[in-house]
Formats: sequence, structure tokens, C-alpha cells
Amino acid sequence: MSTDVAATIEGLRATFDSGRTADLTWRKRQLQGIIDLVKQNEQLLLDALAQDLGKPPFDAWLAELNMVKDEAAHAIAHLGGWAKREKASVPVVTQPAKAWIEPQPLGVVLIIAPWNYPVQLALAPAVAALSAGNAMVIKPSELAPATSAALAELVPRYLDPDAVRVVEGAVDTTTELLAQAWDHILFTGSTQVGRVVMEAAAKHLTPVTLELGGKSPTIVAADADLKVAAKRIAWGKTINAGQTCTAPDFVLVESKVAAAFTQHLSDELASFRDKAPATSIVNERHLDRLEGLLDGHGGEELLPRKTDRANRVMAPVVVREPELDSPIMQEEIFGPLIPVIEVESIDAAIDFVKARPRPLALYLFTGSEATERAVLARTHAGSVCINHVLYQAVVTSLPFGGIGPSGMGAYHGKAGFDTFSHRKPVLKRPTRPDASFAYPPYSAVVQKLLKTLTRW
Ligand code: NAD
Repeated sequence: MSTDVAATIEGLRATFDSGRTADLTWRKRQLQGIIDLVKQNEQLLLDALAQDLGKPPFDAWLAELNMVKDEAAHAIAHLGGWAKREKASVPVVTQPAKAWIEPQPLGVVLIIAPWNYPVQLALAPAVAALSAGNAMVIKPSELAPATSAALAELVPRYLDPDAVRVVEGAVDTTTELLAQAWDHILFTGSTQVGRVVMEAAAKHLTPVTLELGGKSPTIVAADADLKVAAKRIAWGKTINAGQTCTAPDFVLVESKVAAAFTQHLSDELASFRDKAPATSIVNERHLDRLEGLLDGHGGEELLPRKTDRANRVMAPVVVREPELDSPIMQEEIFGPLIPVIEVESIDAAIDFVKARPRPLALYLFTGSEATERAVLARTHAGSVCINHVLYQAVVTSLPFGGIGPSGMGAYHGKAGFDTFSHRKPVLKRPTRPDASFAYPPYSAVVQKLLKTLTRW
């Protein structure tokens, strides 16, 4: 362990052990610090996001800064209620007594962020960890270096520097951090690295929240409003150039409307391509990867391939009927390419989803409540949005997380507070009365009485 990492963790542990971070006033001050950080440095952060990812300023404000501000404001407004003792009932054999659940901060936690929403995915988990009263290290992504540097500079100015530390670095640094004994790790990133994180955490039996990726299916039923569906899917696939964990990955559309829907989708994507400013693909490697997905899919491409290498901007492409074993249908796309596959029926769409790894999100466009109920009951996904895409992730009162290979655990709002708290059960009994019949040997009368009282 390098002396830096050791000293950082030792310092955080000392702060946590002092009890300072558990204090609700301290927590609220930190949460306000996060709001001040994003509001007072709006331009600086937008510039860093433009430098790293060419993010259009309004997209970045909406999906990064405003989202963090909303999470922090929601936590400030609800913290008093979340942090309260929760009364629990006491069974007859344990009476007289009081029982409650007392949320308690976990300790010193590690937050590892990816590059695609590098402000939001570093600071929204920090909001959760701070609301629960923890000390922490935040490790931003090295693939968004300007944002990482901005966070390293700003966080100590706005948050208690003895309780929140930013450690910048790549795989070596993360590996070193992961070797330490944390009280919780929240990792956002790929399923592949999620496995590395969980393996490292297992050595210390550290609990993990894994916010991972995957292929989020979008089902378009024959009774959907096809134009609106196409526009919303096109928006979800082009915002951040499709580099969104919850982006609609591919579309399953009922055969009878497939031709009309696919035409609308191509038109909408072309319109976004021509009229809206585009985010860059993060680096050359990912650009090569996306171009690779377009080779050998065996389907029909709608919209011309067009890549501006200098600015790393890739135009959206619809791929009709790709081969199901081709990489574009096997790997998370994470870019502006969208396969469209016809299915005979909603049942066939459900079977298609069920035959594949459980996704982070599932989208359904339909006008029918029966279809809605069938899809909700018979498929598994981290979250669902009906008749839109992505928006379920910005509702602070909904937990956000995956299932199976798309992740475990959740955060946002109360779910984030719970993730970073130990819900400690407490039972308190008076010392008097201290009836002798409550100890062995239990008389026949006591045994009979208890069995009656417990309705055995
Ligand atoms: P990534 O897994 O490559 O990297 C994430 C973080 O892990 C980075 O901080 C990186 O430094 C670190 N890291 C990378 N390799 C490592 C290794 N071998 N050992 C230890 N640490 C390592 O992910 P990414 O490319 O930054 O992000 C894209 C992925 O993240 C996609 O799969 C996407 O779906 C997923 N994602 C999920 C969510 C969510 O909320 N569920 C949000 C955004 C992105």
C-alpha cells in the first residue's frame, strides 16, 4: 500500500471515529456544499465536460449538474425523516420491551465512477454516502481527465476535506484502493470490472453496490404511438451519443408495425443528427469498437455511416435484423447504433428478453394495460419506463440499480441513504419485572401459557 493511500484512509477513519460525520447538521452542510459546488462552478464543469466528451452545455447541465443538485436538495429535505428511529413491534414472548431500527453510518466508503456522466456518477453516490453520514474516497474516471481534475480541485473547497477525499488515477490506483478494507464500495462501470471489484471486496467481506451496464431492450407494441415512440427512442439513443448505461440498446417491434416504426425511427435519428449538437465518443478505442460493431452484423443499415474522426463524432445508424449472434447483439452497444428486430407478438418479445441476461432497464411503448401488466410480470430488469426512456433514472424517489449482471443494490434518494446506512435493530427491555418463570426450568403452566399466548 502506498503511503498516500494509507494516510488518506487513516485520516478518513479518524474523522469518522470522531463522530463528526454522523451529526445531521454536518451532513446537511455537506449536501449544501455539493449544491454550491455544482451551481457556483457551472461553467467550469461544463467546460471540463466539453473538453472530455464534447458534451453540449444544456445536455450536460440537465443530465449532470441539475441531477446532482436535485439529489442533494431531495436529501436535505428528507434527511430528518430518513434518519429517524423506526419503531418495530415486539412479540409477546419478548415483552415488556421496545424495539426499533436505528440507521447508522457505515464508516469509510469508496465510490468509483465511470467516464460517461463523470460529474453525476461521482457526486450522486457521494450525496447518498454523505446523507447517511459517511467519510469517503471518490475515485473519478481517468478517461474523463478534465472532469476528474476539476472534481479533485473543487471537492476539498466545498466539502469537509477531512471526510471526503478525491483520489485520481487509473487501473493501478483503483486496484490499490480496492485492496483496502472499506465499509462499503459503490462502483459504477462495466459488468466486467464489476466482477473485479466484487472479487477484491470479497477478501474483506466488504458489501458492494454495483451499478453496471448491459443491453436494455425496448419493446414497441403494435398499439403504441409509433411516432412518439420513435422520437423518444431516438432521443435516448443520441443523448450523450448513446453512451448512457440506461440507453435503449435495441428495439423489438411487433411485425405488423415494424416497417412504419423503423421509418419513423430513421427519420427521427436523422433529424437529431442534423439539428442537435452531438456528444463525442469518448476516445479512439471506443470509436474503433463501435465501427467494429457495424462490421459483420449481417443486417440492413438504414442511415449512412458517417464518422468525424477529428471530433470523434459518430452519426446514428439503424441496423435492421442483425444476426442475433453478431457482436452488436451480444455486447452492450454504448453508442449511437440501434438494432431493430421484428417479433411476431408481445409474447415473443417477452421470450426474447427472458432468454438474455437481465438488463439494467427495460422500455415498453404500448397503449394497452394488459400488455403493460404482462411485460412487467414476466420480465426482469433493474428498472422500467413505460412510453418513454431514461426518465425513470431521474426520479429521486425511485431506487436506481440493476439486477443480476446489470448490478446489485440501488441508490438515489432514500435508497441511497439506506445503502450507506446500517439499519441497526435494537431491542430494549426493562430490568424489572424479572420474572423467575422466564428462566428454566419452565413449569408446565408457563409452557402451556406461552403456547396459548403465541397461538401455537
Ligand atoms: P469501466 O468499468 O471500464 O470503468 C469504471 C471505473 O473502474 C473507472 O473509474 C476505472 O478507472 C475503473 N477500472 C477500470 N478497469 C479497472 C480494473 N481492471 N480494475 C479496477 N478498476 C478499474 O467502465 P466505463 O467504461 O468507465 O463505463 C462504461 C460502463 O459503465 C458501461 O458498461 C455502462 O453501462 C456502465 N455504466 C453503468 C451505470 C449505472 O448507473 N448502472 C452508469 C454509467 C455507466
